[in-house]
Amino acid sequence: MDLFLSGHVCNRKTLIITNPIKAIYMLLILLCFLPLQIFINNEWHDSVSGKKFEVFNPANEEKICEVEEGDKADVDKAVKAARKAFELGSPWRTMDASERGRLLNKLADLVERDRLILATMEAIDGGKLFSTAYLMDLGACIKTLHYCAGWADKIHGRTVPMDGNFFTFTRHEPIGVCGQIIPWNFPLVMFIWKIAPALCCGNTVVVKPAEQTPLTALYMGSLIKEAGFPPGVVNIVPGFGPTAGAAISHHMDVDKVAFTGSTEVGKLIKEAAGKSNLKRVTLELGGKSPNIIFADADLDTAVEFAHIGLFYHQGQCCIAGSRIFVEEPIYDEFVRRSIERAKKYTLGNPLLPGVQQGPQIDKEQFQKILELIESGKKEGAKLECGGGPWGDKGYFIQPTVFSNVTDDMRIAKEEIFGPVQQIMKFKTIDEVIKRANNTTYGLAAAVFTKDIDKALTFAAALQAGTVWVNCYSAMSAQCPFGGFKMSGNGREMGEYGLHEYTEVKTVTIKIPQKNS
Ligand code: NAP
Ligand code: MG
Repeated sequence: MDLFLSGHVCNRKTLIITNPIKAIYMLLILLCFLPLQIFINNEWHDSVSGKKFEVFNPANEEKICEVEEGDKADVDKAVKAARKAFELGSPWRTMDASERGRLLNKLADLVERDRLILATMEAIDGGKLFSTAYLMDLGACIKTLHYCAGWADKIHGRTVPMDGNFFTFTRHEPIGVCGQIIPWNFPLVMFIWKIAPALCCGNTVVVKPAEQTPLTALYMGSLIKEAGFPPGVVNIVPGFGPTAGAAISHHMDVDKVAFTGSTEVGKLIKEAAGKSNLKRVTLELGGKSPNIIFADADLDTAVEFAHIGLFYHQGQCCIAGSRIFVEEPIYDEFVRRSIERAKKYTLGNPLLPGVQQGPQIDKEQFQKILELIESGKKEGAKLECGGGPWGDKGYFIQPTVFSNVTDDMRIAKEEIFGPVQQIMKFKTIDEVIKRANNTTYGLAAAVFTKDIDKALTFAAALQAGTVWVNCYSAMSAQCPFGGFKMSGNGREMGEYGLHEYTEVKTVTIKIPQKNS
C-alpha cells in the first residue's frame, strides 16, 4: 500500500535523498522563480484588492514569502474562467477522454521530475518531515495522478432495459465547475486528491489552498500549464477561508464543492450550498478514531501501529487513532511499551536527517494542543510522558502519552490534531463496541486481534468509513475514503470517488415499431 506507514519504508531510502543543504539551496532558487500569485486561465494575476498575505516556516517562525491574497473578486474571475473552459465546444469539452488521461500522466511525470523541489517546499512551508514528504506524500501524489489518468477513458454509462419500446442509456457526464477547498496537513496530497478525479471526469476546478500552506499548490499551477491543460481548466486562488473559501461555497455558478478540513467549517460549506444554488457537496472532515487492541494481538505490532497511527505527521492527521482501547490484561504492558516508543523521538528541523518529529503547523494549533493537554491533566488522566512545548523556536510539542483516560474527558472526545496519545482500558467486546461508536465522528477505526471472528465482528460493528485489521493508516488511490456521521459525506478516491464528480443522465429514444 502506498501510504503504509510502517517506518521501514522511510529508512530504506532516506539516506540517499536527505540532503538538507541542497534542498534549501534549491528552494531559495525556486522561490526566485515561483509565481506567488493567483493562477487563472493559465496566467498569473495579482489580487484585485492588491492585498498579499505572509507565509511562515513553522519550524523557526520566520517569514518565507508573501502571496497574493485572493478574495471574492478573484474567485469570481476564476469561476468565470472555469465556466468558459467548461463550455460545450471548448478545447477541454471536445478533448478525447484518452487525451485527458494523457495530460494527467504527463502531470504525474512532471511531479516526479520536480519531486525534490515539491518535498522541500512541503517541509519548509508545512513543517512536514522532508523524508516523509518525499517518499510518502509525493509517492502518493504521483500514483494518484496515474490512477486517475487510467480512469479517464473508462468512465461510461449503461444501456437500460426500460419498459416499452425504447432504447435507453445513461451518460456519466462531468458536473461542471468544481470548487475545491483544502487544508494544511497534507497540502499537496489534498491538492492532487481533489484535482485528479475531477479532471479525469472532465470537470474544471477552482482550488483554494490553506492559507498556511499555499506554496506547493502554486508550484502545481506552473506544472499544470507546462503539462498542456487548456486555460481555465485548473484555477488556483490562494487566500483565507472566510473570504475566498466562502466565496466559493456561496457561488451561484459553482456546481460542486469538495472540502477537506474541520467539521465546523464543513457545516458552513453545506449551509452555504443550501443558501445558494444547492451545489453538490462532498466533505472530508475530522475524526476521533478508535483503535482497539485485544489481549490476543501481537503486542509489538499493535504498539507500533498504535504509535504511528497517532504520531504520524505530529498527530495532524484526520485519521489519527486518538482513542486507543486496550483490553485489561495487557493494559499496563501496552502503556509501558507505548511510553518507551514515544520517548525515542528526535525533534527538530524537518529538513534534517535523523529528525522524526517536526513542528505543529502554527501558533493557533500549538496553543490549542497545549490547552487540551492541560485539560487532560486537570480532568485526572495520568500524564506518562511529554506534556509541554519543546525548544525555544518553532511550534514543537513533546510526544505526549496519557494513560487512565476515561471517555468523558475532553482529550477523549475532541480532535486534538497533535502528538498526544490517549490510552483507555476495556473489559468486554460489547462494551468496547459501544464505547468506540460513542462519538459524533466516524472516519476510521482499527482492531488488533488474531481471532478472525472478532476481526469480522468489529469490521461490521464499527461506524467508520475505513476499518483496519492488524494495521493502521494503510491507504492508496484505489480505496474509497471518507466518513460516517460528522466525519463527512461522499467518498474520495477509488471508483466510488469518481461518482462524486459525475452526473448521471438518462437518455431515452423511442424505437419506431413496425406497422405503427
Ligand atoms: P479549517 O478552518 O476547516 O480549514 C480547512 C480549509 O477550509 C482551509 O482552506 C480554510 O481556509 C478553509 N475555510 C475556513 N473557513 C472557511 C469558510 N468559512 N468557508 C470556506 N472555507 C473555509 O481547518 P483549520 O482551522 O485549518 O484547522 C482546525 C481544525 O480542523 C484542526 O484542529 C483539525 O481538527 C481540523 N482539520 C481537519 C483536517 C482533515 O484532514 N480532516 C485538516 C485540517 C484541519 P484558511 O486557510 O483560511 O484556514
Ligand atoms: Mg483555518
